[in-house]
Order: sequence, then C-alpha cells, then structure tokens
Amino acid sequence: MGRKLLLLGPPGAGKGTQAGHIAKLLGIPHISTGDMLRQAVAEETELGMQAKAIMEAGDLVPDDLVTALVIERLAQPDAACGYLLDGYPRNAAQADTLTNTYGDDVIDTAIAVDVESEELVRRILQRAKEQGRTDDTEDVVRNRLNVYQADTEPLIGYYRDRERLAEVDGVGSVDEVFGRIVEALR
Ligand code: AMP
Repeated sequence: MGRKLLLLGPPGAGKGTQAGHIAKLLGIPHISTGDMLRQAVAEETELGMQAKAIMEAGDLVPDDLVTALVIERLAQPDAACGYLLDGYPRNAAQADTLTNTYGDDVIDTAIAVDVESEELVRRILQRAKEQGRTDDTEDVVRNRLNVYQADTEPLIGYYRDRERLAEVDGVGSVDEVFGRIVEALR
C-alpha cells in the first residue's frame, strides 16, 4: 500500500516544489488543489470564474467547491494506492470532511514544513519580482499568510493529536529540506 500524505506549510515554504519531488520519489500522484483551481481559472470554467477573484485576494475558495474537486480526484484510479495532498485540507472543516468521508487513514502522515513569517514574506516577494507576478503585492502576500495562520496552521495540532504529524525545518536549500522530509517519512 502506498503512502497517503499531506504536505502542510505556509505560502512561500516551497511546498509545491517539495510536493513534486516527494510524489516522484514515492510514485504517487501529487494532488494540488491550488494547481487544479488555477487550471479551472485558465480554462474559464464555472468553478474558475467563481474562484478567480477569491484566489487573487489570497482568500480561501468556499469549502464545498474545493471538496467536490478533491473527492472527484481521489476517485481516480491512480489515487487508489496513495497520493500526496498539497493544499487540501486547508482548514478544520475540510479536515473533518476528509476524515468523516474516508476515515482517519485518509492521511497516514501530515508533513508540516516550518518557516517563520518574515522570511516567508521576503521569499514570496522575491519570487514575485523574478517571475513578474504583479498579483503578489505585499498586501496579498500578508493576507495569504494571515489566512494560513488563522485557518490552516491549526491543522498541525489536528494531525498531532491523531499522531500523524511529522515536522520538518523548512529553512535551507530545496535539497536540504527534501532530505529532511525523506528522513521524516521513514
Ligand atoms: P496554493 O497554490 O495551494 O497556494 O493555492 C492557491 C489558492 O487557491 C489559495 O490561495 C486559495 O485561494 C485557493 N485554494 C487552494 N486550495 C484550497 C483549499 N483547500 N480551500 C480553499 N481554497 C483553496
């Protein structure tokens, strides 16, 4: 049986990059709700139209919309033997929905990548500049961080209480952090 993982971490912690590496190493699909939503926005689907302004503001898309996406995705055959969830669940209500729908074993390990917040703002703004992402203004970046701290960070306690938490220091190179994650997953 493959691993059923969740990657938790603040915006700017390098979550997407690490998720890609982990999924490749373990041969499991990388399921990113952010990627799925960005694709919906690009394709101008009904969901995309509903999500666009919310995402641009750095707020959370309504739970029912994202949950429907995830349930559909988890029903695909490639997710039958494991997956890496990236960006879902994002708040306690989503975590409860996931647990209530599939049981506690829906996540065997939640990996929390830890980076303190001033370092994050610095990284995100730097990335925005490099990629010419003018949508990443400082206000939006700070809002994303606030939303993370208010809504998502409590999930660390949620998975710790269920003895499914692995905490990893997220400061260092991509390779260093990846090494720590691999170690934590043993
Ligand atoms: P991410 O790439 O994970 O940072 O996601 C980008 C944006 O998509 C977030 O800022 C949210 O607006 C939205 N999003 C992604 N996942 C979720 C989720 N599980 N619940 C609500 N909104 C989400």
